[in-house]
Amino acid sequence: MATLPRLRLKQGREKSLRRRHPWVFSGAVEGLDGEPNSGATVEIVAAGGERLGYAAYSPASQIRARVWSFEPGEGIDAAFFRRRLARAIESRRRLELLEPGGACRLVFSESDGLPGLIVDRYADYLVCQLLSAGAESWRSTIVELLAELCSPRGIYERSEGGGRHKEGLASRRGVLAGAEPPREVEVVAGNLRVVVDIANGQKTGAYLDQQRNRERVAAHGRNAEVLDAFSYTGGFAIVCLRAGAKTATLVDSSAEALALAERETAANGVRDGCRFVVANVFDELRSMRQSGAQFDLVVLDPPKFVHSADQVNSGSRGYKDINMLGLALVRPGGVLATFSCSGHVDAALFQKIVAGAAVDAGRSAQILERLAQPADHPIATEFPEADYLKGLILRVH
Ligand code: SAH
Repeated sequence: MATLPRLRLKQGREKSLRRRHPWVFSGAVEGLDGEPNSGATVEIVAAGGERLGYAAYSPASQIRARVWSFEPGEGIDAAFFRRRLARAIESRRRLELLEPGGACRLVFSESDGLPGLIVDRYADYLVCQLLSAGAESWRSTIVELLAELCSPRGIYERSEGGGRHKEGLASRRGVLAGAEPPREVEVVAGNLRVVVDIANGQKTGAYLDQQRNRERVAAHGRNAEVLDAFSYTGGFAIVCLRAGAKTATLVDSSAEALALAERETAANGVRDGCRFVVANVFDELRSMRQSGAQFDLVVLDPPKFVHSADQVNSGSRGYKDINMLGLALVRPGGVLATFSCSGHVDAALFQKIVAGAAVDAGRSAQILERLAQPADHPIATEFPEADYLKGLILRVH
């Protein structure tokens, strides 16, 4: 192997790497031997000379390097990416998530040993997010390998958002290989037909992380009047209606999301039971409370309120407010299903916030079930940052 540029750490800053945490922060860097380009592979070396692993260099980011491999001597080349991608795909196959027509997350970044790479599968199409300098610099290798390993009809890129910006990379969207996906791809996810707009939908087109949780929530859907707040295309509402709910009210601030929701509810044969409300959930729930509206099942699935550690307090207030509003709309004896996808708000804090909201709303609530992210969004034990989704199903008196 040719000698790699070396990234030397300050004294004592090798501890997290010894525990196989894959991030090297800029403040831990003592110096650099060589002149690596953005995304190039560097060897990480402790102050005492210990060789720690091979990482992608990212000069623009606070996360100055992300480790690809801790194995001594492992080359970072196409064969390495083939091994990692094959391992991730095999894991989903064993979870029986690769059935034709289905959808799942095939690659989940650090948790699959591929920092900055997300790959979602929607039936015959793959959608990639290359969110780090390292993933960006290996893009053609990654795309070729995905084409070979998965034989999709097309591979599309949705590399957008703040993460890419922090790596000094511009947003990119478009076809990477094969055919352009149709405007809407219909996939089967458990009990649900999901209508996915790969090019223009949120994230890579759908929220795959809630697939299993929708079924858990729908267990409380029979004969219910359901409020699906932050509905996106109505995944929760649809599964509840199919489980015997009477009606569902979908609230989302995105008119495009609710337009997709109309088609998705129709594809699932439940459009008649639905009301679609384009509104800010905070405002809409407040006015529902004022008018005395009540529901048997309220779902709150807001976007990420907390993006960094310094937003935990303000974000917690947001969660508390929305949960107080949601609780007020639950008919006595009904159910609240409430979620947070902010990694900085852990499950214990989230439970405290919801408990506080119940006290302030004057309601007593019991946790019936705790929910988390599904198996195709695994949490590598050395990378707790991957643990982001939590939810509670509560009986509300
Ligand atoms: N429950 C959905 C996923 C929700 S993602 C599912 O199961 O697929 C969060 C949604 O909240 C997005 O669709 C976004 O458009 C919407 N949103 C964000 N802020 C909002 C606000 N203040 N009021 C209403 N909707 C909002």
